[in-house]
Amino acid sequence: MEVRDYNRNNVFKSRRNLFRQLLKSLLFISLLLSLITLIQQIFVDKFTVSYFYPLTLCLLVIQYCVDRIHLGWGAFITFIVMGSGSISLALLTDDIALACLSGAILPLLLRFTVTQRWILLFIPVWLSLLVSIHSYNVQTALVSEFYTHLLTLSYSVLVYGTLTILFNRIYSLVSDKEYKENNDLIDEFIDSYQVHQHFEWLKSKNPDGVVRVYGVYLKNILDNVGKSSDSSNEFKEAIVQFNQLLKGVCPPGASIGRLENGVYVLMSERRYWDAFEHGLRQLKKEAPDFSPIVVSTDTPNDSIDLDSALNNLDTVFMRATKEKTDFARFNLKDRDHLNAQTDIRFVDVSQAFEKDEIQMFFQPKVDIKDNNRLVGAEALVRWLHPEKGLLTPKEFVDLIESSPYRLKFINSVIEQSAHFCETMKQSGLPISVSFNLSANDLQDLRVTYELSQVQQKYGFDAGALQIELSEQETDVSLDNLKRSLDAVKELGYSVALDDFGTGMSSLAYFQNLPADTIKLDRSFIKDIHINRLSEHLTNMVVGLSKEEGLTVVAEGVESAMEADTLLKLGVDQVQGYLFGKPMPPSEFLQFYGLELIDYDL
Ligand code: C2E
Ligand code: MG
Ligand code: MG
Repeated sequence: MEVRDYNRNNVFKSRRNLFRQLLKSLLFISLLLSLITLIQQIFVDKFTVSYFYPLTLCLLVIQYCVDRIHLGWGAFITFIVMGSGSISLALLTDDIALACLSGAILPLLLRFTVTQRWILLFIPVWLSLLVSIHSYNVQTALVSEFYTHLLTLSYSVLVYGTLTILFNRIYSLVSDKEYKENNDLIDEFIDSYQVHQHFEWLKSKNPDGVVRVYGVYLKNILDNVGKSSDSSNEFKEAIVQFNQLLKGVCPPGASIGRLENGVYVLMSERRYWDAFEHGLRQLKKEAPDFSPIVVSTDTPNDSIDLDSALNNLDTVFMRATKEKTDFARFNLKDRDHLNAQTDIRFVDVSQAFEKDEIQMFFQPKVDIKDNNRLVGAEALVRWLHPEKGLLTPKEFVDLIESSPYRLKFINSVIEQSAHFCETMKQSGLPISVSFNLSANDLQDLRVTYELSQVQQKYGFDAGALQIELSEQETDVSLDNLKRSLDAVKELGYSVALDDFGTGMSSLAYFQNLPADTIKLDRSFIKDIHINRLSEHLTNMVVGLSKEEGLTVVAEGVESAMEADTLLKLGVDQVQGYLFGKPMPPSEFLQFYGLELIDYDL
């Protein structure tokens, strides 16, 4: 996914380079001048320290203004000692300039290059020099000359050091300013690292570990940035303005992160999801000039971790751009797109079976009319891939179904579901367990045989195991499908019509197939509390189902408001993240405070 890098177009980047070059040249010039002056003094024997005088003082003033040089007690004492020493030197040599330089300015200049602690060292050096001058009574002229060269040399070094410090200081001021200006764009927003931290926190906070991740992409800005060299300020102002709008629409408790590539990543606790989504939908109205595209994905349903969730967001964004929509959720199309990029091979499938990497997870179904009592679970397959992590069905089921392992897979789904049903029974909380089979699977006599074997092995009551038949397109005729379903019902399985309302043949299925349960697809459930059409349709399906004596299950319930509306509409059971994510058997039992009971069949 290509998202423009904001920094790439940052004018400060070139300014910084320019500044670096400037700094280098100035330092080079200052060093050169110092050396020339030094050589001139040594060979021409001319006292030219006066050149340094104004320069040094100017540097001092600048430095003082920039940094407010801090003189501690150590430096102060040094200053006093060297100052009084310089007076005695002035009296001795009659050279006021030399005395001022060495006594008053030298310690001050030294302060630029050394710490206060080290300046103190100059006191004994200075005092011993003074004492030696007096005690050996060296000729005044000689002493003066010696000190002139010594001081000139130290001045060359000091000027160079001062310049370096000064320019470093200016440089850091500029880069600070630059950093701040860049950071104004993400003012109060968390960075990539913190986004990851917040993700982990939410994962542990939500009881079922489900985290919904939103991405906001500013397409207009991403497209226009960098088209003209002077667009930078405008661009930054626009971003700051957008940031304000974004903050305005997000409820408290939501985190807003801004990644290096300019994508906003937003997350919140589940209780804010509704308000959060409502706010993000407002964004389009509040910020029409920015054309924000809001996309979302769920973990662990759509992806195992935040990085793959971010990858999902990019995929959804690309689709949303293509479909010219501004609010999109990760769906089958995106999964297919990603699937095309995955490289799972048949050989991986064979190993997966050998190593028991393909396992069933179970998601609770609760009776909303009976205080959310657990009544069932749906078996959803997962691949615990050693490298790719937890894979969801859309990433591999098609591949397995077209591989030589198809039958093995179906048998494993049936067996694991039955085993779990028995486990729950043995643990003291009997529930019905459903699993997914396709119309084609049901046409396969070997599958029907397996179903009969399992039923024989466990001897479940009728309806303890349920087959979920999806409304996916199939070339199996309605008559054939009806015959197969009649057969499995005779074996003691109940039948649910899965994803009801999404296919072309909902009503034909409803009318002709011997179903016991209707599973309303999540597309009707989502936002049902605010979507009148979904409410009407659900109401209609519930009415029809009741007349036919069918149970209605709503899939993908995420918010309490959705659940309340479903209860009002007369839906019997609900399944969704609000009540529990798909979990491995042991976790499921733990979730309901049960202990795993070993049993022999
Ligand atoms: P499905 O049978 O309709 O399963 C429901 C899907 O919705 C599951 O996705 C489940 O994790 C997800 N879901 C549950 N609650 C929520 C919620 O609150 N919000 C949202 N956004 N999603 C929720 P999953 O596990 O990825 O399965 C996808 C589909 O893959 C299933 O749809 C089913 O058609 C198929 N599938 C799953 N397991 C098997 C299997 O063992 N065999 C076959 N043939 N297909 C399977
Ligand atoms: Mg299903
Ligand atoms: Mg479904």
